[in-house]
Amino acid sequence: MLPKEFLEEMREILKKDYTLYEKSIDDEAFRGISLNRLKADEKIIESLPFEVKKTPFYKDGYYIPCDEKGIGNMPFHSGGAFYVQEPSAMSAVTLLDINENDRVLDLCAAPGGKSAQIASCLNNTGLIWSNEVVKSRVQILLSNFERMGISRGVVSSCYPEVLCSKLEGYFDKVLVDAPCSGEGMFRKNPEAVSEWSREHTVSCAERQLSILRSAAKAVKSGGTLVYSTCTFSYCENEGVIKKFLEENHEFEPCDIAWHFGRKTELPCAVRITPIEGGEGHFAAKLRKKGESLTDTYIQTVKDKRQDTKTVLKELENIFYELPKGEYNILNDRLYIMPKDLPDTRGLGVIRAGILAGEFRKNRFEPSHALFMSEKPENVRRVLEADDDTAKKFLSGMELESDCKNGYTAVVYGSIIIGFGKTADSRLKNKYPKGLRIK
Ligand code: SAM
Repeated sequence: MLPKEFLEEMREILKKDYTLYEKSIDDEAFRGISLNRLKADEKIIESLPFEVKKTPFYKDGYYIPCDEKGIGNMPFHSGGAFYVQEPSAMSAVTLLDINENDRVLDLCAAPGGKSAQIASCLNNTGLIWSNEVVKSRVQILLSNFERMGISRGVVSSCYPEVLCSKLEGYFDKVLVDAPCSGEGMFRKNPEAVSEWSREHTVSCAERQLSILRSAAKAVKSGGTLVYSTCTFSYCENEGVIKKFLEENHEFEPCDIAWHFGRKTELPCAVRITPIEGGEGHFAAKLRKKGESLTDTYIQTVKDKRQDTKTVLKELENIFYELPKGEYNILNDRLYIMPKDLPDTRGLGVIRAGILAGEFRKNRFEPSHALFMSEKPENVRRVLEADDDTAKKFLSGMELESDCKNGYTAVVYGSIIIGFGKTADSRLKNKYPKGLRIK
C-alpha cells in the first residue's frame, strides 16, 4: 500500500492522468539496458536472445523484458557491451547533450549507470570525472568503470563542496543525479515505500539544494548543469530548481525539446512516470551564463613522473599501438592517465585513467582494466571464444589456446571480455577472482 499523503501529491501533480498512474501501481516495473559504444554497437543488441525495444529517453537505450533472468551472467554483460539501467534514468544524460571532447562531472555517480552513458557518448575523448561521496559505494563504481572499458576517466570520493571549489569552472557539463526519496523506485523496491515520509522529502530537498549549490561552481561559463532525481516529489524537483535559480542569477533555465516525458511548470524540466514508460525520473537543464572560455585552468602535476621505457617494451609486445595517455609509475604500478588533468591532490582521487598493470619481481603484469579498455584489433594475441568457451573463461577455468606464448585477449562476439597468458597451448586465466561467475 502506498502512503496516502504520497498519493495525494501524485493526484496534484498528474491531475487528469492520476487514474492512469493508479492503474499502473501494481504492474511490473520497466527494465532497460544502455548500449556502451566504447565496446559495442547495435549489432550486439540485435543479437541478444530476448526482445529489445528502443526507449524514447536516450539514443542508445532499450527496454528489455521485465522477467528476463540471468542478464548479469551473460558474456556481453561481463564484457561491458551494455549496462542494465532503468529506462527513464537514461533521460538525464540526454539532457546533458554530450559532445566529444567535453569535460563532464558526474557528481553523485555510484553505481555508475549515468557515468557509463556519458563515457559512451564521449567516445574516448574529453574527460568523465565520476565522484561518489559515500566511500562504501566507490568500489562498485570503479568496477563498472573497468567493465565498461572507460580509460579517459577519474573516480573520486570527495565532498561536493570541496571538489567543486577546487575545480571551479573546469567542466563543460555537470550532472547532479541527487540522492532522493526514491518515489520512482516504489514498484522495483518496496523498501523505498516503507522509508517514505513527507519529512524525508523535505530533508532530501535541503540536501539536494546544497549539492546543487556546490555543483554550480564547477560549471564553466556557458556550460550546462543538469539536475535529476528518481522521485516525483514537487519539493525535491521543481522546488529545488526554483530556489536554486532564485539565488544563483548566473544560471538560466534552458528550454528543452519535448520528445519524451511530461511537461512540468518549468520549461527547463521534464518528469517521467510509468504513464510515459519509465519507473520515475525528473530532470532539469540549466545553463551558466557567459561565453564558453578556453582553458586557463590546466595545471598538471609533473613531479612524480618516472622513466617508463621498460614498460613500453612490455606493452609493445602485447599491443600493436600503445594505449594513449600519460604514463605514470607509482609504487610499482603503472597508471595510464588522460593528458592535462588538473592537480588532483586533496580531491579524494581513487583512480585517474586506468591502473594498467603492476611490476612483480621485475616483471610487468598487465591488468584486467587495460585489456577491457582495448579493441581486439589492437591486440597481438587474441583467443576467439564461443558461448561455451566464454562461460568457461568467465568462471575462471583454464582454456586451450592456439596463440603464441604471451598475454592474450579473450574476445567474445567482437568485444574483449578479459585476458589470460598463453603458455604451451594453454591459457592461464587472468579474469579477476572477485568477478568470476559461478
Ligand atoms: N548517478 C548514479 C547512477 O546513475 O548510477 C546514481 C546516483 S544515486 C541517485 C545518488 C548518489 O548520491 C548515491 O550514490 C549516494 O551515495 C550519493 N550521495 C549521498 N549523499 C550525498 C551527498 N550529501 N552529496 C553527494 N552525493 C551524495
